[in-house]
Amino acid sequence: MAERLVLVAGAGAAGMMAALAAAARGARVRLVERDLAEPSTLALSGGLVAAAGTRWQQQAGIADSPARFAEDVQIFTRGTAERGVLASVAGAAARALHFLADVAGLPLHLHTTSNWPGHSVPRLHATPAESGAELATLLRQAVVRERRITLEDGTELIGLLPDGVLLSRPGAHLHARADAVVLATGGYGAAPDLLARHAPAAARAVHVGGRLSTGTALRVVPEAAIACMDAYQGQPHVSPHLVKGVRPRFGAALPALGAIMVNRAGRRFAREDMGPSELTAHLLAQPEGRAVEIWDSAAQQAAMAGGPFRRAVELGAVATCPDAAALAARFGLPEAALRGTLAEALRCALGEAEDPLGRRHWARPLAPPFFGAEITGALAHSQGGLVVDGAARVLRPDGVPIPRLFAAGGAACGISGHGAAGYVPGNGLAQSFALGLLAGESAATG
Ligand SMILES: Cc1cc2nc3c(=O)[nH]c(=O)nc-3n(C[C@H](O)[C@H](O)[C@H](O)COP(=O)(O)OP(=O)(O)OC[C@H]3O[C@@H](n4cnc5c(N)ncnc54)[C@H](O)[C@@H]3O)c2cc1C
Repeated sequence: MAERLVLVAGAGAAGMMAALAAAARGARVRLVERDLAEPSTLALSGGLVAAAGTRWQQQAGIADSPARFAEDVQIFTRGTAERGVLASVAGAAARALHFLADVAGLPLHLHTTSNWPGHSVPRLHATPAESGAELATLLRQAVVRERRITLEDGTELIGLLPDGVLLSRPGAHLHARADAVVLATGGYGAAPDLLARHAPAAARAVHVGGRLSTGTALRVVPEAAIACMDAYQGQPHVSPHLVKGVRPRFGAALPALGAIMVNRAGRRFAREDMGPSELTAHLLAQPEGRAVEIWDSAAQQAAMAGGPFRRAVELGAVATCPDAAALAARFGLPEAALRGTLAEALRCALGEAEDPLGRRHWARPLAPPFFGAEITGALAHSQGGLVVDGAARVLRPDGVPIPRLFAAGGAACGISGHGAAGYVPGNGLAQSFALGLLAGESAATG
């Protein structure tokens, strides 16, 4: 039988996974990427991946299953996650991580530093540094080692053809034949026109995802079914300021470590233990869409396990203040109001009072010295996209697969339901790797 040629567009999370999976099934793979020097959303991410029923969970004595993962998602999204995609992702995520460890040689472990809303058991996994940059580097190395994959930089997919695709390189357009095509070009967070049309709430936020997430998949296959287009992954722990050209991020772990958020008036405005994505919408509703996040030494020490947090500290974006007065002065907050807020939070954390905002998880009472940072709401990644079946084949609105076309990652519909509230940490990469695995395997076998 002739060797199959699979063309994968986009060398981010889903694309590298799909390329490796197709190669492992014996296909020859052309992996085309618009710009390898430009960080993908994967490289900018926190690098935590949700998966249920992994060997790392078993080693830690954690009982989990795809059914439990899917149930957690449906509780969080109030039953609005796209059911078919959710079943595929929940079912294949553990296999995808085992593949990444065994075939691509990635050193994965179970993340146990913090428990986040939306996962009823610990199911986030990561590479040693717990950063997307490291995950992207290790995946790139695995792709480069695989002799069946040709990685082509500076090559943009601009159209689909009956027997392949149309590619654009500086000064040239070329027709590339392929037996199957995997769209792994990311979401539409960097496409103001698509955000305005599909997700106007997200259009107000600072975009912190990959700059090439310009919605290629939606543009090249307009005849496909799309779903959950208003869904997005929000991030409330992001600096409103660029430091040395970088926007510091403090990671979603802080509230689980006891952090609180106050607005310009020195008052808390939402229960910080809700999902980070949902919290983004509350933060954006504050004056100037900004707040100050406050935590203590114990939280600071634990948060240093996260790559983006360590980078934010290196960039000098975290302030250390010996007491409430210094904290108020440093961030220009009314001192009396801030003292009142800290005192009330202390009573709630000690179990002496009920939080009027409904927070239930306080980790521990905050004790000086305090650490703080100014934060705003950001758009990390869009969550809507092409509807795919259990083999990651792109479907038409009537449910019929489009021949030879597959999608994964931000190009495809996510598992986050609608709006910002349904995104659970780790589920973006879970979808990218699970659908990437299915797409690569299916594309390789026809
Ligand atoms: C700040 C931040 C933190 C995050 N943290 C987490 C986390 O901890 N856990 C988690 O699960 N998710 C996280 N996410 C989300 C996660 O990173 C995404 O869900 C995931 O990277 C999507 O993968 P992808 O392959 O679809 O897109 P990407 O990783 O962005 O890859 C798409 C690639 O396609 C390329 N491309 C685009 N258009 C074309 C074209 N026309 N032709 C060729 N190439 C093209 C792009 O350059 C890019 O390299 C985070 C996101 C951000 C922004």
